Amino acid sequence: MRIYHNVLKLARDWYFVQASPNDKRAQKLPLPDDLVGELLAYVVAHEVGHSIGFPHNMKASSHYTLEQLRDPEFTKKNGTEASIMDYGRFNYVAQPGDGAALIPTVGPYDYFAVKWGYRQYKSAEEEKKGLAELVAQQKDNPIFRFGNANPSEDPTRQTEDLGSDSLEATKLGMKNIDRVADNLVAACSNEGENYDLLQNMYDQLCRSERANFCTSRRSIQRWILRLSRPRLSLGGGCH
Ligand SMILES: [Zn+2]
Repeated sequence: MRIYHNVLKLARDWYFVQASPNDKRAQKLPLPDDLVGELLAYVVAHEVGHSIGFPHNMKASSHYTLEQLRDPEFTKKNGTEASIMDYGRFNYVAQPGDGAALIPTVGPYDYFAVKWGYRQYKSAEEEKKGLAELVAQQKDNPIFRFGNANPSEDPTRQTEDLGSDSLEATKLGMKNIDRVADNLVAACSNEGENYDLLQNMYDQLCRSERANFCTSRRSIQRWILRLSRPRLSLGGGCH
């Protein structure tokens, strides 16, 4: 299993700019060890997914509604995206007081994929029947569908997006960005220390703001494209 060498900084920066308004532990840096452990567990679970053969499923973060993403019980049971192999990152849709889960976990699509790849059958005949029954679930339940990163073909297959309504998700994400900005100096600076951490987080915050707008812009562009090219919607890979 391979892990990006600077992943702790990456996870810390993303969590601070996306989720810190919803987690008191992240409102002053450095992050406490228990939270860093949770962030690392998320990264490791994703990389274990690659180790057992799973590619990224960038469609998985587009299935849950914003109401579901703000629901503590739903997010605790189903995670914040249908697969940990997406790049949904942390739950920036949740608002203070919601109590929703913030860190992705192994999701329903991952259990589905494990059954597809690893379930044992007694005979070739049983395997054929079992796999047919399994794959038929994709027809009725969209959370079992797969899509690699290709927002130019399908706006629900973006990286860094979250939720079934990316425009409303962006509005909620921007509210959190405002909250992070209000807390930025207090969270990232201490008397007698230099401003390197503050500068880094300011840059991350600006990047996150741009990413939010880019996600919405790409969604609008691609939905317009789909409406103007109906074959794309009816043809394949765009559901
Ligand atoms: Zn990956």
